[in-house]
Amino acid sequence: IQTTELFGLPFVNATPSTWYTHIKTVLHDNEKAFLVTANPELVLRSLRDSEYNAILKKATFITPDGIGVTAASKRLGNPLQATLPGIETARELLRTADNLHKRVFLLGGRPEVMKSLIKQLSIRFPNIQFVGTFHGFGKDQEAADAIRSAHADLILVALGAPKQEQWIASVYDLVDRGIFIGVGGAFDVWSG
Ligand code: UDP
Repeated sequence: IQTTELFGLPFVNATPSTWYTHIKTVLHDNEKAFLVTANPELVLRSLRDSEYNAILKKATFITPDGIGVTAASKRLGNPLQATLPGIETARELLRTADNLHKRVFLLGGRPEVMKSLIKQLSIRFPNIQFVGTFHGFGKDQEAADAIRSAHADLILVALGAPKQEQWIASVYDLVDRGIFIGVGGAFDVWSG
């Protein structure tokens, strides 16, 4: 997939249909990947925090999440073709996981929302195997072990930025499979 360097990060430069087709293939083929959906807040943090920038550079794909990022790319004379919202990317991955009966792990969020989250997602995506959950206020190493032993194909990490990207980068090399994506506050929305 085509990328364009902006703000010191390589952004996916693609139409939504090209991007969604691409990630569906990544999930279908069981490729390992680290997805960052970069909103303006995340981009600003990366510009002023070199450690965070280095973490983001470990990502397999960085998508422009929010009109602010694509608008800025045009002003800089290096236009991105489209905004690729993180919530849409996560939804496409869940739809694909449902079609392919994939194994999904949910990490993060408040412990009290996990039960209703699983219930809501199971209604919408009945063929997904939810192979594990770990609320977002536990021990990092234990969560990494749980993901590994669950053989998850898709791991949604809802710890908010920058914590979710830091967390993914810290465990990514310890786990040999799965697509990891930070989804911010999505669990609070989906569980309601
Ligand atoms: N969260 C968590 N553990 C933490 C801090 C936050 O699980 O140590 C969760 C919190 O419950 C919420 C999400 O991370 O569901 C953060 O959402 P927020 O809206 O702040 O993230 P954003 O969408 O702005 O990245």
